[in-house]
Amino acid sequence: MALMTGKNVFITGGSRGIGFATAREALLEDANAVAICSHFDETREAALKKLNEEFPGRNIVGYTFDLETCGEAEIGAAMKDFIAKFPDAEGKQHLDAVCSLAGITHNNTCKNIPEGLFEKVVRVNLIGTWYVDHQAALIMRGQKYGSIVNTASVAGVYGNSMGAGYGASKGGVIGLTRSLGREMAFFNVRVNCVAPGVVKTDMTTKDTGPEALEYVCSTIALRRMGEPSELAKMFIFLSSDNASYCEAGLYHVDGWTTA
Ligand code: NAD
Repeated sequence: MALMTGKNVFITGGSRGIGFATAREALLEDANAVAICSHFDETREAALKKLNEEFPGRNIVGYTFDLETCGEAEIGAAMKDFIAKFPDAEGKQHLDAVCSLAGITHNNTCKNIPEGLFEKVVRVNLIGTWYVDHQAALIMRGQKYGSIVNTASVAGVYGNSMGAGYGASKGGVIGLTRSLGREMAFFNVRVNCVAPGVVKTDMTTKDTGPEALEYVCSTIALRRMGEPSELAKMFIFLSSDNASYCEAGLYHVDGWTTA
């Protein structure tokens, strides 16, 4: 049996990069329904179009909310709308997995970081993740099952010399995961997080020259960046019942990155 048969999967940051690859992986693993969320309608629409072309007739929907400005209610409403749209054969509504992948980065030393940017990164990456997790946890607590997978980073473990806000936000995601996982274990809900290393997406490649990327690769034991699909496999494994004994954990998928 495929890993996600019958499951409804809600993915923030699903419009591109690792989130999009995770949506695709969920569909390849036979998910019943997939929701992709983004803060821009256009990228989300383009992603929906691509997924519908590759997986015609499958249950794929999109939601728009901006984690910098939205309240929790908006996120909760999107989750409730999603599960109401795709009940199981007995008419039961269920939210099986939530992958919280939306995030932003920054490259600033403390000398040149603009006012408010630290706060913005923490708001989107950490508080945004909390909002998503909190709404998912309230639904999954009632179901007495479910899986939440958050996105940390190696920067949250080892630090990042030009991203204090990013490192702080991702370190916070690890603490959030450990704590919420311990609490939600009582309700048979698993909360874990993935720490990607350097992955080939817009976030890393858009504003970085080839020489800088080459240097970055030289610091990775596997000597290359990860592909979004290589990360997606971990998100979907942790979302699946095959990860039934994984709780409150941090899983590196980084080609062994320490610098
Ligand atoms: P990406 O820039 O390709 O995609 C980011 C996604 O987040 C998009 O779907 C975007 O719409 C969404 N998003 C951004 N700001 C948002 C906001 N304010 N509200 C709602 N949605 C918002 O990035 P990616 O590389 O795919 O990164 C995905 C996750 O993985 C992020 O949390 C990122 O921090 C983390 N990560 C990435 C790398 C990497 O090397 N790419 C490394 C470590 C961790």
